[in-house]
Amino acid sequence: MLINAEKGISGWIYDIQRYAIHDGPGIRTLVFFKGCSLRCSWCCNPESQKFGPEMVFFPDKCIGCRRCIDVCPFKAIEVKDEILYTHRYFCEQCIIQNSGNFPCSDICASKARVTMGSLVTVDYIVDQVTRDQWLYKHSGGGVTISGGEPLNQPQFLLSLLKKLKENWIHLAIETSGYGKWDDLKNALTYLNLIFFDIKAYEKSYHINLTGKENDVILRNALQLNSYLKKQELDIDLIYRIPLVPLYTCNEENVYQILDFIKNKLGGGKVEFMPYHRLGRGKYQSLGREYSLSELKPPSNEVVQCFQHAARERGLEVVTL
Ligand code: SF4
Ligand code: SF4
Repeated sequence: MLINAEKGISGWIYDIQRYAIHDGPGIRTLVFFKGCSLRCSWCCNPESQKFGPEMVFFPDKCIGCRRCIDVCPFKAIEVKDEILYTHRYFCEQCIIQNSGNFPCSDICASKARVTMGSLVTVDYIVDQVTRDQWLYKHSGGGVTISGGEPLNQPQFLLSLLKKLKENWIHLAIETSGYGKWDDLKNALTYLNLIFFDIKAYEKSYHINLTGKENDVILRNALQLNSYLKKQELDIDLIYRIPLVPLYTCNEENVYQILDFIKNKLGGGKVEFMPYHRLGRGKYQSLGREYSLSELKPPSNEVVQCFQHAARERGLEVVTL
């Protein structure tokens, strides 16, 4: 979907959520950028990972009108025992041929097929999020830029942050740290709060977990830390550690991260992010397999144990 993309700087987002209370202080609006270079198998927003638009199918909303079958240029939709199956391979070609406007989602009146991802202008987002400015003011809230990875669209990000700051809005960002230092540094001019993910300390372990090395992430954490101190910038920095059983949630990995924060970053605030299953259904809608279907969230005892380990190292544990 293209929304005023011809006017001004534009970028890909997949959602704008109002009235959020978890990703920063007060009542906030979350702007979700689309596209991420990492592939964490526990990701609860798989629709955020791919760059550009995707067709999403929600079978429970389908009323069986079969209009999508008629308009699909690739005959990619098949009916077996009254159930619709989509051969996703063809949808990739459909993106190219139709510039992100999927005929099936355009015609589906029940919203069983929707296009996930919109190319929008900065002005469009500013117009949307400033509607709740009175709420931000009275709750101490603001706007959080999330993803996907916001640093993957640096020009769009900077332009958006600048315009929002002109409206005196408290600004937060959630980043995996996997981006260029200069882009992160430029964003600091406007930010009030940074959530910086550290998923693993060992390089090979990080590759296994995410598909990418973590050199750039750890280097950015070091540069960010020293830059904030040197410039005496009043930006709140919270390191986020995901606790995913069998993946990140083990003593060796978490202690290595905590020691890195304590010894190399000079301490600071940490927030533990226990794994949850809320994103499970989204994988099916995207035609992808969810490999963690048997995984259970960590117990409260486990989370508290790591919180204790952080406090023992002199770190401040944050629970938002
Ligand atoms: S157009 Fe929508 S509601 Fe109709 S069959 Fe296709 S997916 Fe189902
Ligand atoms: S996205 Fe395109 S190829 Fe895929 S089912 Fe829809 S119309 Fe067919």
